[in-house]
Amino acid sequence: MQAIYLHGPQSASLGQTNEPTLGPGQVRLRVAMIGLCGSDLNSFRGKNPLVTYPRIPGHEISATILELGPDVPGQFKTGAPVTVSPYTNCGNCPSCRRGRLNACQFNQTLGVQRDGALTEQIVVPWQRLVSSGILTLRELCLVEPLTVGFHSVSRGRVASGEWVAVLGCGTVGLGAIACASSRGAQVIAVDLDDTKLALAEQAGASHIIHSKNEPLLERLRELTGGGGPDVIIEAIGLPDTFRLAVEAVAFTGRVVYIGYAKEHVSYDTRLFVQKELDILGSRNATVDDFAAVVKVLEARQFPLDATVSHVVPMRETPEALANWDRDPASVRKILIDVQA
Ligand SMILES: [Zn+2]
Ligand SMILES: [Zn+2]
Repeated sequence: MQAIYLHGPQSASLGQTNEPTLGPGQVRLRVAMIGLCGSDLNSFRGKNPLVTYPRIPGHEISATILELGPDVPGQFKTGAPVTVSPYTNCGNCPSCRRGRLNACQFNQTLGVQRDGALTEQIVVPWQRLVSSGILTLRELCLVEPLTVGFHSVSRGRVASGEWVAVLGCGTVGLGAIACASSRGAQVIAVDLDDTKLALAEQAGASHIIHSKNEPLLERLRELTGGGGPDVIIEAIGLPDTFRLAVEAVAFTGRVVYIGYAKEHVSYDTRLFVQKELDILGSRNATVDDFAAVVKVLEARQFPLDATVSHVVPMRETPEALANWDRDPASVRKILIDVQA
């Protein structure tokens, strides 16, 4: 069967792989759509430190159930549309022992540390499936990238009435905005792209700041009555925004980092202490985050259609990645139609 391979920096092609075998507790899926995310672009650019080559990418998945292995519970039926949690957990590391399975020390994400879903069929344990009787295959494909933003809001313990600033309005940032606003927070969205800011408003942001045209720090203080946001979620991964989060957040506030910084970030650590900050990392997502996203999407409270900028057939994935690499600003979300 066909699959897309990344061979190394700037090199991707359509190739062949074997049909996976089905074991006990496993489900065979016919892949419908795959979303590409920033980590896939980084893998294509050779800048993802977690990936090894050759690698089949693909961790934002929608699919239908083709075949059930032995010992799969009865709620799963062939033909049902599903999405997939792309993570693993070892059960023994400190994170797993604390019940924080999303941050397993030995996690292997589909398409990163092991081959992913940009192929015709995959086999996964039934525990990784998330289903919805309402969402379409296109909508199911957008669940995973939103869960990452939802998880950051849980990490930040965002409560009703708080001021939350989200730096970066890509799919992950939009997920954080939707989740924080569904919890009753006042959300300030920050980006330098007008289209993304418009989407942020549709996702629930009550205020937007165009960070190129407006002085960000001053605007954040102004909007929050001088004190700064209670929570700042960084969903970009740049040293400047890493630092700005600490500078702009309120005293005794929370800073949540989702973006991986690609270079060293130097801080004046005085503010950590003086403000008595909670500085938190947020990695991947939990099963609860998947359920929360499905609920928000089923209520049709999120501008899903506008989030997608490109839908391309699987054989055109290499060109889609190359175009995205050349002109990142032209892309919001690329969906690969595996069956086209
Ligand atoms: Zn992703
Ligand atoms: Zn573990």
